[in-house]
Amino acid sequence: MKARYNYRIYPKPHQIEPLAKAFGCARVVYNDALWLYKKALIEGLPIPKDVDKQVITQAKKTPDRAWLSEVSNIVLQQSFRDLQTAWNNYFSSLKGKRKGKKVGLPKFKKKQSRQAIRFRKGGFKVHSQSVKLAKIGHVKMVVSRPLPSSPSSVTIIKDCAGRYFASFVVEIPQPIPPPSVPPNRGDAEGRGVGIDLGLTHFCILSTGEKIENPRLHKKMLRKIKKANRRLSKAKKDSLRRKKRKLRLAKLHAKVKDQRTDFLHKLTTRLVRENQTLAVEDLNVAGLIKNRKLSRAISDAGWAKFKTLLAAKCDKYGRDLIIVDRWFASSQICSCCGQSGGRKELDVREWECLYCNTVHDRDINAAKNLIREAGGQSDSEKRDNAVLDGAFKVRTQENPYPHTAPWLSPMSDCRL
Ligand SMILES: [Zn+2]
Repeated sequence: MKARYNYRIYPKPHQIEPLAKAFGCARVVYNDALWLYKKALIEGLPIPKDVDKQVITQAKKTPDRAWLSEVSNIVLQQSFRDLQTAWNNYFSSLKGKRKGKKVGLPKFKKKQSRQAIRFRKGGFKVHSQSVKLAKIGHVKMVVSRPLPSSPSSVTIIKDCAGRYFASFVVEIPQPIPPPSVPPNRGDAEGRGVGIDLGLTHFCILSTGEKIENPRLHKKMLRKIKKANRRLSKAKKDSLRRKKRKLRLAKLHAKVKDQRTDFLHKLTTRLVRENQTLAVEDLNVAGLIKNRKLSRAISDAGWAKFKTLLAAKCDKYGRDLIIVDRWFASSQICSCCGQSGGRKELDVREWECLYCNTVHDRDINAAKNLIREAGGQSDSEKRDNAVLDGAFKVRTQENPYPHTAPWLSPMSDCRL
């Protein structure tokens, strides 16, 4: 099993220029090669076999590209290989040979966005507090945790906020023994936990716990708006504009880091404490189109939450069950299974007409999710699991055969 380990690196002032050159040259090689590939595609010709020679070896001899020789050849070769991979991924995705999300045609890289170069074995060496890069030298690295095995490659990244990172690809042993699940977690029958995603609270667990939504972007909104205003007033191509752009990028980076930290901590906790996790299959991309809610939803980071949850469940051997998007989790009574009918969004609490239980709307929904997920044994679950993107989706059986109407689509379109 492959994993990525990321570390912050701090290049010395005299290393920044060679790094910038390497980023620039790698980008030029990538773009030149992509241009040749696209030209061949448009003209309907086969892709020439010597593209790498054309864009690297021969290009170095021309006055236009002579500066390519100043950079390690490993970086340039790797940049070309990365383009080949991206190109092949697009075509295998197009033909349906590739699992998961559709991959687009590679795009030309821009000078202003995030920059990256990659070193394969032979081009770098890891030391206890630094990483040695070809033609750049030892770069100070903060090793927050040791690497589990020797890495096969390293990507050096400079993000928009001007920070440098080293990202290693390492092989980790599979399977990792799952951390112990404390007994009596989840609902009364110990089946696991249902997770209902919300905006007032980030999520509500079937155990009754409500997890606060940190609303990070909203907290920074005033500063971000101000930085945006100041940026728009600066003259084009001026040094001041550059500085203000960096300031804005730094604010965005801070929000992103805080959100990632929150989501990692939450998902790790949930996966550690439960064997089975049930979440709703929300159509995040569709919901974001709702203009009133888009900022709040993007801020909450639901999509990233689910990606992390899926990855961690996979790593630790937990069962993640994605309950159908049309399952009316907020309509059914989690006690007796009777449908209480559709409820408006402002109804936060309701009483079941059949068994007189008073429900908190969200906790009831979370309980229904895990109840819906717990209908089958583990082996059956695995048989029925179909990999759809990153998520295991299971065909559903009605656990309450006497109440069928809620299974009809569109019965609970809550937003
Ligand atoms: Zn009831």
